[in-house]
Amino acid sequence: MHKMVVANYKMNGDRKFYSRVLKVVNKYNKKDTKIILCPPFVYIPFMKLKSANLGAQDISSTVNNKSTGQIGPSMLKEFGVKYTLVGHSERRAEGETDETVAMKVKTAVSHDLVPIICVGEEKKGDKIDIVSTQVEKALSLVDKGEIIFAYEPVWAIGSGIQPTTKQINKAISTIKKVASKSGHEVKVLYGGSVNGNNFSEIVKTDADGYLLGGVSNRLDEFASILKEMQ
Ligand code: PEP
Repeated sequence: MHKMVVANYKMNGDRKFYSRVLKVVNKYNKKDTKIILCPPFVYIPFMKLKSANLGAQDISSTVNNKSTGQIGPSMLKEFGVKYTLVGHSERRAEGETDETVAMKVKTAVSHDLVPIICVGEEKKGDKIDIVSTQVEKALSLVDKGEIIFAYEPVWAIGSGIQPTTKQINKAISTIKKVASKSGHEVKVLYGGSVNGNNFSEIVKTDADGYLLGGVSNRLDEFASILKEMQ
């Protein structure tokens, strides 16, 4: 099975940085790892990748052309994008609701883009039901199509703190179970403070891959993760 690595660059980098990213990825990507790079929209046209895939960090919830500031699915596809993050906690923190997430998932799937839907509880100790509800709602407008989830507990993002292997595995099996009730067989990634030091522990979880934030910007450490995946 191909394990996935998704790099979310958020609002980081410049053209020089992304040309270094391309060198690292083209050097270390081997056929058993599926790498998906999600740079800011404006750098997408410069990402000439031999062996990795391109993802967007977000997508418009509609294909209505009266959407100032939004980027639609056909625009992304024109530049080779195959995946898009949806519902990242940083977007949810700015007011994105489960309903908007569901519309974005529908927009992506209906245009053959694969959504990587981010779900996760706000605080350490919050009930897993919160995640189940996010999953159910995210899938409420689609009945088929490839879908990936990323379990990203909000309290683990950028904090250096992580759930235990047991907690991660419980969340992954819950997400798969809830998705299968609505007829979807999904892959589930783990994301939240993954780095070069803790990666050897994270690989022991049941995750189908990893969503990397901060470490994607530290290219030596990022390269060491790619090497460890071989
Ligand atoms: C993220 O923002 O999706 C993320 C996983 O960030 P970090 O790896 O920095 O916690």
